[in-house]
Amino acid sequence: MLKFYNTLTRKKEAFKPKKSKKINLFVCGPTTYDFSHIGHARTYIVFDAFVKYLKQKGFNVFYLQNITDIEDKIIIRAKEKKTTPKKLALLFEKEYLKDMKALKVDSVTKYARATNHIKEIISQVKRLLNRGFAYQIKDGAYYDILKFKNYGKLSGRTVLQAEDAVSRIDKNKDKRNKGDFCLWKLSKKGEPKWKSPFGDGRPGWHIEDTAITEKFFGLQYDIHGGARDLIFPHHEAEITQMEAISNKSPMVNYWLHTGFLTVKGKKMAKSLGNFITIKDFLKDYSFRVLRLFVLKSHYRSPINYNEKLMFQTKKELERIDEFVNKIKSQKSKVKSRAENQKLIKKTKENFEKAMDDDFNTPKAVAVIFELINKGNSLMNKNLLSKTNARDILKFLQEVDKVFCFISWSKKKEKIPKEILKLADKREKHRQQKKWKKADEVRKEIKKLGYKIEDTEKGSKLKRI
Ligand SMILES: [Zn+2]
Repeated sequence: MLKFYNTLTRKKEAFKPKKSKKINLFVCGPTTYDFSHIGHARTYIVFDAFVKYLKQKGFNVFYLQNITDIEDKIIIRAKEKKTTPKKLALLFEKEYLKDMKALKVDSVTKYARATNHIKEIISQVKRLLNRGFAYQIKDGAYYDILKFKNYGKLSGRTVLQAEDAVSRIDKNKDKRNKGDFCLWKLSKKGEPKWKSPFGDGRPGWHIEDTAITEKFFGLQYDIHGGARDLIFPHHEAEITQMEAISNKSPMVNYWLHTGFLTVKGKKMAKSLGNFITIKDFLKDYSFRVLRLFVLKSHYRSPINYNEKLMFQTKKELERIDEFVNKIKSQKSKVKSRAENQKLIKKTKENFEKAMDDDFNTPKAVAVIFELINKGNSLMNKNLLSKTNARDILKFLQEVDKVFCFISWSKKKEKIPKEILKLADKREKHRQQKKWKKADEVRKEIKKLGYKIEDTEKGSKLKRI
């Protein structure tokens, strides 16, 4: 039985979609004013694997993500870069989509830009004003949080705290309550603007999400996801807006939130300057390293990022790849054994059990490594038949449709010329039986991160 931890009820709950096998899922997308970092990537990798798993289980998932392409940060950055907010937002939207492609995050059904939904946003603000939940002051329309009885039901709080995203707090001394948030902001001279009954301006941040989800999903839907720092005020505001408009509760049945990616115990954030962009990360590592690194932790736990862990993750990937290659070339003539079939069946069950239990990917990854250990030992003892190997491979292929971190191509790693030259030099020394000199070169190669294995067919270079 599929179970999720629901932030709204603070409980693990059995999952039941509103319509049998159909799932409507919304996840907050990026604000396109800069490159995305690997903290953002964590959330998107988690939900990508999550959607792929749900699809594998036979659900029809509509995965919707917004793109915040109008916001104060975009206007400020565009001014700094001497470009227009529109051009800047488009540029970083492109970069974001490139990053997602590079990370094999390809399960989003629809990306919806805020600026393409101004009509829907205005309609929501209008309804909130008409129903008395919103009011207008000099610089725009605001939501009166005291008008909504259940304000705070998701986060358990109603006031801003120090750790909230400061730049997104709407400051205006004419607001009725300190926590009131902006729905429609009147634009100053030179700022982007759209015509509206409440004056020329632009949407507030929270209203774009509910306008977009109302358009695609209607008044209520199944799952809303995002990073945990969005719970307050952003997601709280979404509930407040939508439920005030629809008079239906809950707007969303299940709220899923991802934990932070931390660096030395601090959240990776642009404002703290401790971030690594996805682009920079991919210069040093394969996307597969990041996917395994993210998925071997539980999505709700914080993950601490450091180089040592990346190295370790890389080693783990190599172990998986090596196993896959060995399994692929398994040509043993031994007969299929019932015990092996049982092992494969049990592995599949354990994998599914872990994934169904609030998407426990670390447990699922552990199941894979257990299979690798047992599989290796069976192959070493020549107890794994070709059929068994084929079944293991099939299972791993299915797993990888969700995780996307196994390498299936036999493409060999490119060895730098410098290392190849040294290997040649060593070979010459060996042919001349200058063993000491050959060994010195071997040590030199080792220092550069490669080792030499001498086989019957000659020597082989491998990364350490
Ligand atoms: Zn959002």
